[in-house]
Amino acid sequence: MRIAVIGGGISGLGTAFVMGRRIPGAEIDVFEKNTIPGGTIATYRNNGFLMETGPNGFLSGKPTTLKIVDMLEKQDTLLPADAKAEKRMIVKNGRLVTLPDTPLKFFTSSILSFGGKLRIMKEPFVSRKIGDEDETIAGFGKRRLGEQAVTWMLDPMVSGVFAGNVDKLSLASCFPRIHELEMEYGSLVKAMMKLRSKKASPSGKLTSFENGMGQLIEMMVLSGAFRLHPGSEVREIRKEPDGFHLDHVRGVYDVVVLAVPAYSLSEMAVPGLAEVKKELASVPYPPMAVLPFAVKKGIVDGFGFLIPSAEKSRILGALYSSEIFPNRGTGEYDLVTVMLGGDRNYEVRDMDSASLVDAASEELAGFLKVERKELENVGLFKWQRAIPQYYTGHWKIVEKVEKAAAAVPGLFVTGNAFYGIGINDCTLAAFKMAEKVQEYLTGEKE
Ligand SMILES: Cc1cc2nc3c(=O)[nH]c(=O)nc-3n(C[C@H](O)[C@H](O)[C@H](O)COP(=O)(O)OP(=O)(O)OC[C@H]3O[C@@H](n4cnc5c(N)ncnc54)[C@H](O)[C@@H]3O)c2cc1C
Repeated sequence: MRIAVIGGGISGLGTAFVMGRRIPGAEIDVFEKNTIPGGTIATYRNNGFLMETGPNGFLSGKPTTLKIVDMLEKQDTLLPADAKAEKRMIVKNGRLVTLPDTPLKFFTSSILSFGGKLRIMKEPFVSRKIGDEDETIAGFGKRRLGEQAVTWMLDPMVSGVFAGNVDKLSLASCFPRIHELEMEYGSLVKAMMKLRSKKASPSGKLTSFENGMGQLIEMMVLSGAFRLHPGSEVREIRKEPDGFHLDHVRGVYDVVVLAVPAYSLSEMAVPGLAEVKKELASVPYPPMAVLPFAVKKGIVDGFGFLIPSAEKSRILGALYSSEIFPNRGTGEYDLVTVMLGGDRNYEVRDMDSASLVDAASEELAGFLKVERKELENVGLFKWQRAIPQYYTGHWKIVEKVEKAAAAVPGLFVTGNAFYGIGINDCTLAAFKMAEKVQEYLTGEKE
């Protein structure tokens, strides 16, 4: 049984890895356009600093990424966030404000006004959403929690996860669990109380690897579960009576799993998908820039900060990377990673390196209350198209693409444009996809 996986990001590699371990006799080839695999995941070293081009970690509360680490028997490479990095902040009126982590601290914090706090307390009494219209995150937040909670809490959180815009993103597509909790319990507060009494698992700790997120990619590639073909862009797939043929590749495949970004898929010639090219091309991918800075030890403390869009900053926020994972910094310097761009800042796409460094260091210096010369830029990674945005109506795109792929036996589509953008979402999709492919090949359910 020959399986081709197109795209060597976590979605493609995760699917190839699980299939390699679970489908007896499967010969799996992964074709990746770039010379190095990992997609947005990669780790670099410079002068003793360890830096990420994209994700800094995943939450340990969901099981599938950890399950891959277990299957690799590499549990000793895991690195949970340091306990001292608990403190999270947002910017309000130009200053860093600590986010409350207990209900008591919430009432004494300056994050919302007295009226804003009272409005949140009304949440259990707000009735459940009526109708099945796809609601924006801001719409949901205003309805259940009030305007202030959207501005100072949901907006920066969405910026931190999607680099997205609360007025455009769909709650049900981006945070399906929150949508389900409202539907099931009628209120988020009621849901939290019920789940706490059921001892439901918490969201967990941010977790990475000793050598950074790139280590996960390296371990999967070295596992022998599949063959990786780097520098192999696939532009055309044909289905012939003997199976699938890929443009430049010799041989025939029984199954093709597509795990590329939606815009790449829209540019490929794939049987059955011509009719959904427009939908695929319509998924927005705003740009992002990631700029790590060396900052003398003693200046930063905590996890980092996010900036609500109401603050009109040129940066999205900053992670105190070496406070979270101490081996990312050096003995003398902390590593602080600034993020720019996202759905409200498309201009980042056209900014050159000097202007990105300029904007990031000026803003960071302001928030940390230090001189710009105290910040040394030690890296720059720019994604022209970073994270797919699930606007309202996104579910229709997913449904159409799934339907089009299902009409071509042996063709499967996955990736962060469809089943969640978090690493845990991509690995959960990998397990599901491996099961589907196994079912297709053997006619048996696991
Ligand atoms: C800056 C940033 C920070 C993030 N932070 C976090 C975080 O802290 N935690 C978290 O959980 N998630 C985070 N994410 C999101 C997460 O990293 C991504 O959603 C996830 O890695 C996407 O994986 P993927 O395999 O679906 O897509 P990609 O990583 O985009 O991989 C797709 C691959 O397909 C290849 N490809 C494209 N076209 C072709 C073709 N025609 N032929 C062959 N190959 C092709 C591409 O080169 C690429 O390698 C972050 C993302 C970014 C950009």
